[in-house]
Amino acid sequence: MIEFPPASLPYWARGAKDLEKLNASGSHAAPHGSLAGKQAVVGDHGVVAEHHASRNHRITTDAAVSPDNATHQPGVVSNGNTRPQNTTLNDRIVPDAASLTQGRRLNFGHFSNHHTGSKLAVLIDAGGYGTAADSHLIGYLEAFFARRPDLHRRLAAVYITHSHLDHNTSLPHVVQSFQVDRYVETGRPNGEVTTWMDHRLSQTPVIQHIVVTEASVEKAGPRGISNARVDPLACAGVNPRIRILSGARVPVPGLTKTDLETENNHSMTIRIDYGASSFLWTGDMEKPALALLAARYTGNKLLDADVYEAGHHGSDNGTTPPLLDAVTPILAVISVGHRGNSGSKTAYGYGHPRIETLQLLEGRITAARPTVHGFMATGKKQLHDFDESRAIYATGWDGDIVVTADAFGHLAVELPH
Ligand SMILES: [Zn+2]
Repeated sequence: MIEFPPASLPYWARGAKDLEKLNASGSHAAPHGSLAGKQAVVGDHGVVAEHHASRNHRITTDAAVSPDNATHQPGVVSNGNTRPQNTTLNDRIVPDAASLTQGRRLNFGHFSNHHTGSKLAVLIDAGGYGTAADSHLIGYLEAFFARRPDLHRRLAAVYITHSHLDHNTSLPHVVQSFQVDRYVETGRPNGEVTTWMDHRLSQTPVIQHIVVTEASVEKAGPRGISNARVDPLACAGVNPRIRILSGARVPVPGLTKTDLETENNHSMTIRIDYGASSFLWTGDMEKPALALLAARYTGNKLLDADVYEAGHHGSDNGTTPPLLDAVTPILAVISVGHRGNSGSKTAYGYGHPRIETLQLLEGRITAARPTVHGFMATGKKQLHDFDESRAIYATGWDGDIVVTADAFGHLAVELPH
């Protein structure tokens, strides 16, 4: 799932009917073998998750496939014409596998256009507490660029949703290690990393500095900001679109002084569309700001996304029923530390993910995943075992998580380790 071209991906399935076709078609489709002997689970709404003995999962939905695409069988790679054309989005969500920290955060997307040859990678957030988290992030990027020398160690953009250390502490290391073309952030000075970055920008003007505020989002109109400054992707065929849906807050009805003093509420909201596939990040935004976000985009579907990164590490203040009404996720990813870690800035210390959030997600997500032994919190320092069988992935129990999407709305999940 990591490499291009997409022929290296395992097949995609789109409903039970296609599973039958794929099954009948034998082992031509996938490097991992045929569907024979593997389990298919059909969810309430035609959602299919197909299990391997390996840690590779496929999650698809008929709803995301347009009528124009209905005759395609993207997974049948014996017919090259049936695969989505030219462009593939791989979005990588790879935080914390080894640190003693909260478990934040590398969201890494790379985009490749086989027709034009244009290739780009972007990074959303670069945080974590401690040297282990930093090493994990840099190590991941080093390994990725080693496999992809054609990308020349270049990140077309680094987005920092907000300036807490669990989101930006590795930013200096990233900037020093790789070429960064754009730095997109909310412009709120907060600690040594933003100070370091401001100095670096003055020394290295080649990095474009883009500040996203609520004023700029509102000025952009009802569909948020999606211009060449915040979206460096320009692929022929299916062009991935990056859109910023919220920025640094200003005083408005609905936000108290305390809300405005809470840095989490100033998180950028980022949406990425690739054909029929979509991803949404709300950073660590909390309930009052989430209410404003949901209200702003009521009616235009801009929060409706296939993959939702659960806000604020699965905290009970980072996901709300109105937000999930708008998002209607197929799959959720929670960025959270491991259960065995202790200390104040850990999943244990914060009590992440909270049972309330998991219950909300399980109430909305019908797609299945291979059952995994996870944990949930009923409060700070109160973690409990539970088994997760819905398409809810968390770094705390899955380690690195790679979600791959194609232009037809098919999703696949790989858990590399
Ligand atoms: Zn955070």
